[in-house]
Amino acid sequence: MDNGLLVVISGPSGAGKGTICKRLREVMKDLKVSVSATTRQPRWGEIEGESYFFIDEEDFINRINNDEFLEYAKVYGNFYGTPKKEVFKQLEAGNDIILEIDIQGALQVKKNYPRGVFIFILPPSITELKNRIEGRGTDSKEVILERMKSVYEELNYAFEYDYVVLNDEVESAVEKIICIIKSEKNRAIRK
Ligand code: 5GP
Repeated sequence: MDNGLLVVISGPSGAGKGTICKRLREVMKDLKVSVSATTRQPRWGEIEGESYFFIDEEDFINRINNDEFLEYAKVYGNFYGTPKKEVFKQLEAGNDIILEIDIQGALQVKKNYPRGVFIFILPPSITELKNRIEGRGTDSKEVILERMKSVYEELNYAFEYDYVVLNDEVESAVEKIICIIKSEKNRAIRK
Protein backbone atom coordinates (compact mmCIF):
# COMPACT_ATOMS: atom_id res chain seq x y z
CA MET A 1 0.00 0.00 0.00
CA ASP A 2 1.39 3.39 -0.97
CA ASN A 3 1.38 6.01 1.74
CA GLY A 4 2.54 9.01 -0.23
CA LEU A 5 0.40 11.15 -2.47
CA LEU A 6 1.02 11.28 -6.22
CA VAL A 7 0.21 14.74 -7.54
CA VAL A 8 0.01 15.41 -11.26
CA ILE A 9 0.42 18.99 -12.43
CA SER A 10 -0.59 19.21 -16.05
CA GLY A 11 -2.10 21.49 -18.65
CA PRO A 12 -1.23 23.16 -21.93
CA SER A 13 2.32 24.08 -22.83
CA GLY A 14 3.04 27.60 -21.59
CA ALA A 15 0.39 27.52 -18.86
CA GLY A 16 3.15 28.01 -16.31
CA LYS A 17 3.41 24.44 -14.94
CA GLY A 18 7.19 24.62 -14.68
CA THR A 19 7.24 27.89 -12.73
CA ILE A 20 4.50 26.65 -10.40
CA CYS A 21 6.35 23.39 -9.70
CA LYS A 22 9.62 25.22 -9.05
CA ARG A 23 7.91 27.47 -6.51
CA LEU A 24 6.05 24.52 -4.94
CA ARG A 25 9.37 22.78 -4.34
CA GLU A 26 10.73 25.85 -2.60
CA VAL A 27 7.71 26.13 -0.34
CA MET A 28 6.99 22.44 0.31
CA LYS A 29 10.46 21.17 1.05
CA ASP A 30 9.37 17.58 1.67
CA LEU A 31 7.71 17.26 -1.70
CA LYS A 32 9.62 14.99 -4.10
CA VAL A 33 9.74 15.78 -7.79
CA SER A 34 9.76 13.15 -10.49
CA VAL A 35 12.56 13.71 -13.02
CA SER A 36 11.41 12.72 -16.50
CA ALA A 37 13.44 11.19 -19.27
CA THR A 38 13.38 12.97 -22.63
CA THR A 39 14.87 12.73 -26.09
CA ARG A 40 14.76 16.55 -26.41
CA GLN A 41 18.07 18.42 -26.54
CA PRO A 42 18.96 20.20 -23.30
CA ARG A 43 18.20 23.93 -23.21
CA TRP A 44 20.68 26.39 -21.83
CA GLY A 45 20.96 26.04 -18.06
CA GLU A 46 19.25 22.66 -17.83
CA ILE A 47 21.00 20.08 -15.69
CA GLU A 48 21.20 16.35 -16.45
CA GLY A 49 19.38 14.32 -13.81
CA GLU A 50 17.79 17.41 -12.32
CA SER A 51 15.87 19.05 -15.17
CA TYR A 52 15.56 15.82 -17.13
CA PHE A 53 17.45 12.64 -17.94
CA PHE A 54 18.51 13.43 -21.50
CA ILE A 55 18.65 10.19 -23.47
CA ASP A 56 18.57 9.22 -27.14
CA GLU A 57 15.60 7.73 -28.95
CA GLU A 58 17.01 4.19 -29.03
CA ASP A 59 17.48 4.24 -25.26
CA PHE A 60 13.98 5.67 -24.78
CA ILE A 61 12.37 2.94 -26.91
CA ASN A 62 14.28 0.26 -24.99
CA ARG A 63 12.89 1.68 -21.76
CA ILE A 64 9.36 1.63 -23.21
CA ASN A 65 9.83 -2.02 -24.15
CA ASN A 66 11.14 -2.80 -20.66
CA ASP A 67 8.00 -1.21 -19.18
CA GLU A 68 10.08 1.33 -17.27
CA PHE A 69 7.64 4.24 -17.66
CA LEU A 70 4.55 5.03 -15.64
CA GLU A 71 3.51 7.05 -18.69
CA TYR A 72 5.18 8.43 -21.77
CA ALA A 73 4.19 10.63 -24.69
CA LYS A 74 5.58 12.22 -27.79
CA VAL A 75 5.30 15.98 -27.34
CA TYR A 76 6.20 18.22 -30.29
CA GLY A 77 8.42 15.55 -31.84
CA ASN A 78 10.28 14.48 -28.70
CA PHE A 79 9.61 11.65 -26.27
CA TYR A 80 9.01 12.38 -22.59
CA GLY A 81 8.40 9.76 -19.91
CA THR A 82 8.06 9.33 -16.15
CA PRO A 83 10.37 6.63 -14.74
CA LYS A 84 8.10 4.27 -12.82
CA LYS A 85 10.60 2.86 -10.32
CA GLU A 86 11.48 6.16 -8.64
CA VAL A 87 7.84 7.25 -8.34
CA PHE A 88 6.77 4.05 -6.58
CA LYS A 89 9.87 4.04 -4.40
CA GLN A 90 8.92 7.48 -3.06
CA LEU A 91 5.23 6.62 -2.62
CA GLU A 92 6.06 3.42 -0.76
CA ALA A 93 8.43 5.36 1.50
CA GLY A 94 5.47 7.61 2.37
CA ASN A 95 6.73 10.61 0.41
CA ASP A 96 4.50 12.80 -1.72
CA ILE A 97 5.68 13.19 -5.27
CA ILE A 98 4.80 15.65 -7.99
CA LEU A 99 4.78 14.96 -11.73
CA GLU A 100 4.85 17.87 -14.17
CA ILE A 101 3.67 16.32 -17.41
CA ASP A 102 1.60 16.98 -20.50
CA ILE A 103 -2.07 16.07 -20.89
CA GLN A 104 -1.57 12.81 -22.82
CA GLY A 105 0.68 11.61 -20.01
CA ALA A 106 -1.67 12.75 -17.25
CA LEU A 107 -4.53 10.78 -18.78
CA GLN A 108 -2.35 7.65 -18.83
CA VAL A 109 -1.42 8.10 -15.17
CA LYS A 110 -5.11 8.55 -14.34
CA LYS A 111 -5.79 5.17 -15.94
CA ASN A 112 -2.81 3.40 -14.35
CA TYR A 113 -2.92 5.12 -10.97
CA PRO A 114 -6.39 6.62 -10.33
CA ARG A 115 -5.53 7.34 -6.67
CA GLY A 116 -3.40 10.25 -7.84
CA VAL A 117 -4.52 13.85 -7.56
CA PHE A 118 -4.88 15.47 -10.96
CA ILE A 119 -4.53 19.25 -11.25
CA PHE A 120 -5.04 21.13 -14.51
CA ILE A 121 -3.25 24.47 -14.79
CA LEU A 122 -5.29 26.95 -16.77
CA PRO A 123 -3.47 29.82 -18.48
CA PRO A 124 -5.03 33.25 -17.78
CA SER A 125 -5.71 33.96 -21.45
CA ILE A 126 -4.71 32.79 -24.90
CA THR A 127 -2.82 36.08 -25.51
CA GLU A 128 -0.91 35.67 -22.27
CA LEU A 129 -0.13 32.08 -23.17
CA LYS A 130 1.25 33.11 -26.57
CA ASN A 131 3.38 35.78 -24.89
CA ARG A 132 4.78 33.19 -22.48
CA ILE A 133 5.62 30.67 -25.17
CA GLU A 134 7.23 33.36 -27.36
CA GLY A 135 8.93 34.96 -24.37
CA ARG A 136 10.99 31.86 -23.67
CA GLY A 137 12.88 32.67 -26.84
CA THR A 138 13.87 29.05 -27.22
CA ASP A 139 11.34 27.82 -29.77
CA SER A 140 11.13 28.40 -33.52
CA LYS A 141 8.10 30.11 -35.14
CA GLU A 142 6.84 26.74 -36.41
CA VAL A 143 7.08 25.19 -32.94
CA ILE A 144 5.25 28.17 -31.39
CA LEU A 145 2.46 27.87 -33.98
CA GLU A 146 2.16 24.13 -33.39
CA ARG A 147 2.03 24.65 -29.62
CA MET A 148 -0.68 27.31 -29.91
CA LYS A 149 -2.82 25.07 -32.15
CA SER A 150 -2.77 22.21 -29.67
CA VAL A 151 -3.58 24.51 -26.74
CA TYR A 152 -7.15 25.00 -28.03
CA GLU A 153 -7.72 21.24 -28.19
CA GLU A 154 -6.04 20.66 -24.86
CA LEU A 155 -8.30 23.04 -22.92
CA ASN A 156 -11.20 20.57 -23.35
CA TYR A 157 -9.38 18.02 -21.21
CA ALA A 158 -9.66 20.19 -18.10
CA PHE A 159 -12.90 18.34 -17.30
CA GLU A 160 -11.03 15.05 -16.84
CA TYR A 161 -9.07 16.40 -13.87
CA ASP A 162 -9.90 16.61 -10.16
CA TYR A 163 -9.04 20.31 -9.93
CA VAL A 164 -8.55 23.26 -12.25
CA VAL A 165 -6.26 26.03 -11.03
CA LEU A 166 -6.09 29.33 -12.88
CA ASN A 167 -2.53 30.57 -13.15
CA ASP A 168 -3.22 34.30 -13.26
CA GLU A 169 -0.57 34.86 -10.62
CA VAL A 170 2.04 32.28 -9.59
CA GLU A 171 1.90 32.81 -5.82
CA SER A 172 -1.87 32.53 -5.65
CA ALA A 173 -1.88 29.43 -7.91
CA VAL A 174 0.78 27.83 -5.68
CA GLU A 175 -1.22 28.66 -2.57
CA LYS A 176 -4.28 26.94 -4.04
CA ILE A 177 -2.25 23.85 -4.93
CA ILE A 178 -0.83 23.67 -1.40
CA CYS A 179 -4.42 23.74 -0.05
CA ILE A 180 -5.39 20.95 -2.44
CA ILE A 181 -2.43 18.78 -1.40
CA LYS A 182 -3.09 19.34 2.32
CA SER A 183 -6.79 18.58 1.93
CA GLU A 184 -6.15 15.46 -0.13
CA LYS A 185 -3.75 14.19 2.54
CA ASN A 186 -6.52 14.55 5.10
CA ARG A 187 -9.16 12.73 3.10
CA ALA A 188 -10.83 10.08 5.20
CA ILE A 189 -11.28 7.88 2.18
CA ARG A 190 -8.86 7.82 -0.74
CA LYS A 191 -10.15 7.20 -4.25
P1 5GP B 1 9.63 21.14 -22.29
O1 5GP B 1 10.28 20.59 -23.52
O2 5GP B 1 9.15 22.55 -22.49
O3 5GP B 1 10.47 20.95 -21.05
O4 5GP B 1 8.31 20.26 -22.05
C1 5GP B 1 7.35 20.12 -23.06
C2 5GP B 1 6.13 19.46 -22.48
O5 5GP B 1 6.42 18.13 -22.05
C3 5GP B 1 5.57 20.18 -21.25
O6 5GP B 1 4.16 20.28 -21.38
C4 5GP B 1 5.94 19.26 -20.10
O7 5GP B 1 5.02 19.35 -19.02
C5 5GP B 1 5.86 17.92 -20.78
N1 5GP B 1 6.58 16.85 -20.07
C6 5GP B 1 7.72 16.95 -19.34
N2 5GP B 1 8.05 15.76 -18.84
C7 5GP B 1 7.09 14.89 -19.21
C8 5GP B 1 6.86 13.50 -18.99
O8 5GP B 1 7.60 12.80 -18.30
N3 5GP B 1 5.77 12.96 -19.57
C9 5GP B 1 4.90 13.68 -20.33
N4 5GP B 1 3.85 13.06 -20.83
N5 5GP B 1 5.09 14.99 -20.56
C10 5GP B 1 6.16 15.59 -20.01
